[in-house]
Amino acid sequence: MLTIVVYHYVRPLAETRYPALAGLDLARFEGQLDYIARHYEVVSLADLVRVSFDTTQLPHNACVLTFDDGLADHYTYCLPALIQRKMSGAFFVSSDAALGRGPLDVQLVQHILAACPDVQVLTAEIAALYESLPERASLPNFGALHAQWAKPGRYDPAEVIFLKRLFQVALPAASVRWLLDRLIGPKLGTDRATFAREVYVSLAQLRVMARMGMEIGGHGASHRRVTGISSDELRLEVKGPWSLLDEIGIRPDEPRFFTYPHGAVDETAILAVKKAGYAGALTGERALVKGIVARYLLPRLDTNDLPQTAEASPNEFTIALRAEAS
Ligand SMILES: [Zn+2]
Repeated sequence: MLTIVVYHYVRPLAETRYPALAGLDLARFEGQLDYIARHYEVVSLADLVRVSFDTTQLPHNACVLTFDDGLADHYTYCLPALIQRKMSGAFFVSSDAALGRGPLDVQLVQHILAACPDVQVLTAEIAALYESLPERASLPNFGALHAQWAKPGRYDPAEVIFLKRLFQVALPAASVRWLLDRLIGPKLGTDRATFAREVYVSLAQLRVMARMGMEIGGHGASHRRVTGISSDELRLEVKGPWSLLDEIGIRPDEPRFFTYPHGAVDETAILAVKKAGYAGALTGERALVKGIVARYLLPRLDTNDLPQTAEASPNEFTIALRAEAS
């Protein structure tokens, strides 16, 4: 049985410009690593390839640590914490961001949400901007979009989900860009280029991480969903990070992995990832990996599913998962 955990933002939140960012506080991250050291044996994705994806050949309590989105946090905070504990991690990068073509909409929206204490007020501001969109005449009414997308999620209330979906799926790319361009300055007090430099890991940092034994994989090019897009677009999303891995010097004989942005996956996406040469891929499905697994549909737990202090006992959720899986 294998547990794969996924992390996104990890930072000392209270000491940063965005203390309300939906991320994991560094102290809790370190607490969780110490908890994992007590209850699990950290292995790599290469180890999983070595046993031909037969998890019965891995240590009984095997665990893989994964990090999505290619964030500067991963270099600044996660790398030292892992090295200190002699643990390895697998870091998944959206190539547009690491190549300086960012920032990506997903991180902009998350930071804008973190910068606005009252999400209702933010929604009202965006609703007002929406009426001035150049494409407004061809777009649905804001109220109709709200009715369609404002549904509570696992971690977010309905209003936050609405704003995320508005920028992720509900609007055309040009409208998203137009709206974000009018929010970045007032809300974040910065511009696109500066924001991108602050938020993402660089190619040079990725090379250091690879040299220090960390695994680097692909997480799309632009971080858009890889489902429901044209075959040309899909190829770009899968090939972009592949070229990036070449560029940072990942050897061709090292197995490469892909994580689906937003966890969105279908048969066409799996085929594209396989065809590109990736050895396997990870989803956002919340389960343990057991037996011989579907290598392009490896499920992962979120960091919030596991205890985040060293001395904690296993929680009910992970106990129930294990019982279910064995
Ligand atoms: Zn992501």
